Amino acid sequence: MDDNNKPESPVKPKPKNPKLGEIDCDLCGRVSSVKQNAKNYFYVGCPSCGVDMRKGALLQTRLYKETQWLAGVTPNLPPNLITDQPEKPAVTQEPAGGNPKQEPKQEPKEDQKQEPKQGSNYQGLFGLACSVCAAILFIR
Ligand SMILES: [Zn+2]
Repeated sequence: MDDNNKPESPVKPKPKNPKLGEIDCDLCGRVSSVKQNAKNYFYVGCPSCGVDMRKGALLQTRLYKETQWLAGVTPNLPPNLITDQPEKPAVTQEPAGGNPKQEPKQEPKEDQKQEPKQGSNYQGLFGLACSVCAAILFIR
């Protein structure tokens, strides 16, 4: 794709995805070119059958595994690639055995504070005052 030698290119062509590898067409068996679009989906360009842009996971996985990649080509993994060994999810949502339940926080009981009984104090003060008055009156 050495188009730099051209003096001018008034219409900018669409950026073509480079050919990454070859695979036999599953219909006619001819060698087809395998390319990859911007979303990492493979598609096959058969000279007889045309372009196959199916995005099915099975097809994408087959293309990834069976394509004869060109030298130095490292294709990106298609987003729906089927892996032989399913990767374990890093974060397991299932609770492990013996998952401790969150115990409710024990709030300190405020109602156990002993409030001073003001009634008895008033009565004691009233009685003291009365006795003082009585004493004064008695002395006179
Ligand atoms: Zn074909």
